[in-house]
Amino acid sequence: MSTLPITFEDVAAAHERLRGVAHRTPVLTSSTANERTGAQLFFKCENLQRMGAFKFRGAYNAIAQFTPQQKAGGVITFSSGNHAQAIALSARLLGVKAVIVMPHDAPAVKVEATRGYGGEVVFYDRYTEDREALGKRLAAERGLTLIPPYDHAHVMAGQGTAAKELFEETGELDMLLTPLGGGGLLSGCATAAHALSPACTVIGVEPEAGNDGQRSLQLGEIVHIDTPKTLADGAQTQHLGNLTFAVIRERVSEIVTVSDAELVDTMKFFASRMKLVVEPTGCLAAAAVLHGKVDVRGKRVGVLISGGNVDLLRFAELVQAAG
Ligand SMILES: *Cc1c(COP(=O)(O)O)cnc(C)c1O
Repeated sequence: MSTLPITFEDVAAAHERLRGVAHRTPVLTSSTANERTGAQLFFKCENLQRMGAFKFRGAYNAIAQFTPQQKAGGVITFSSGNHAQAIALSARLLGVKAVIVMPHDAPAVKVEATRGYGGEVVFYDRYTEDREALGKRLAAERGLTLIPPYDHAHVMAGQGTAAKELFEETGELDMLLTPLGGGGLLSGCATAAHALSPACTVIGVEPEAGNDGQRSLQLGEIVHIDTPKTLADGAQTQHLGNLTFAVIRERVSEIVTVSDAELVDTMKFFASRMKLVVEPTGCLAAAAVLHGKVDVRGKRVGVLISGGNVDLLRFAELVQAAG
């Protein structure tokens, strides 16, 4: 186990780097949610993090550890979601140039947000080009350092600081649930839980349409799937990472799934009851608790809300369509 890719010391060091830079996001409670579930729930609100998601933590922790030569060269990533904005913002704060590879048909708001943080956007054709290969080629040609969205020790350790803050606030918990895409968040948070609340059961939650993580944990090896069709666009990953899976198989008890309808219901719950705007992916963990996917009765449970970046019109449409 000493050979795991990250340790709690890495998470603690990341937390020091983020001090005064990342928000220490609030931990909220809801008596309605507690009554509905029979549990005591603690919601860690990373939808209120800088740039709107926990991804700022990992991106900043990674770029802050660049050598002077890497800092002079710049950073590149091939993700078009929250990680892109996290890299662009972190790079700007650290005085590093950022290049973001995005599909040519990426939503204009995402392109604008990334440019707004000072990132240079390079487009690719998602039907004919391999974004990872393009990212690697550009990195080599232009002397940029590639930071992938989850399978990187510094990214994983940074994401774990969200759970470290949660346990510092609540003390030990019986259970912790986090959303799961490629596993950066889950592996980092499980590492923090193991150190700060050793008896805590850690559970990952992914979309029903793409349960590769659940199958991987059951099978003991990484399962690859086609890009799943789900509202949870931050969890449309095709497989866990080698590094994230190494941690998840040791530290995570279970992976459960929720449907898109359950995600929308949870978005409505957050907006109406807790006055929180949460994107579909950000609702994964809460949806599992509110829809009885895990037995939380009588337990003290941490629930990670991972992000709040959803176009307002889209938000209204989803909520209205659900009635
Ligand atoms: C990226 C992301 C996730 C998934 O995180 P992983 O580290 O890939 O598992 C969940 N929620 C939001 C809002 C995200 O942006």
